[in-house]
Amino acid sequence: MLSWDRLKEECLNCKKCALCETRTNVVFGVGSENAEVMFIGEGPGEQEDLKGEPFVGRAGKLLDDMLELIDLDRSKIYIANMVKCRPPANRDPLNIEQIACADWLKNQIELIKPRIIVCLGRISAMKFIKQDFKISKEHGQWFLQDGMMVMALYHPAALLRDPRRRPESFEDLKKLQQAIKDYCTHTYP
Ligand code: URA
Ligand code: SF4
Repeated sequence: MLSWDRLKEECLNCKKCALCETRTNVVFGVGSENAEVMFIGEGPGEQEDLKGEPFVGRAGKLLDDMLELIDLDRSKIYIANMVKCRPPANRDPLNIEQIACADWLKNQIELIKPRIIVCLGRISAMKFIKQDFKISKEHGQWFLQDGMMVMALYHPAALLRDPRRRPESFEDLKKLQQAIKDYCTHTYP
């Protein structure tokens, strides 16, 4: 396991997969290194690639609104993606890219030791909850993995495409808020 400084330095220079050739910036992650709650998305899009920060495009704006609904913001949690460089034309990251990139996120999780992981969307839930995860059926449910509580929310980009899912997502956020109150010590003042 690397320290934060080493991890960040090595990750920002990573050439472990072909996405390094098309990226503008490595999108390492943002938030508190002492976070109790970690949000994990899929991979950077265009805006994220340009700015080097996760969830700064349209979906990111919605994520910020979702956080605000339960009195959270980027400084109180940590946000990272499974894949740190943008797949061209926003295609899904290939398996080989996900595997090449996995150790960076693993190291981030080991350093943060979150109580709660929130998967943003199905791809992240398939990795952190179970391979056959069904997002439409299992969003908002809690799973215990390696001593951490894990739940998946609909990806904010999916909520932009289909606003009818928003009420369900609101219920999931309320569940998350309650779990933070019950199991975290310093996320809420
Ligand atoms: N979608 C993701 O999964 N991650 C981002 O950083 C932006 C959009
Ligand atoms: Fe390295 Fe991950 Fe970027 Fe591939 S996607 S070059 S493994 S940081």
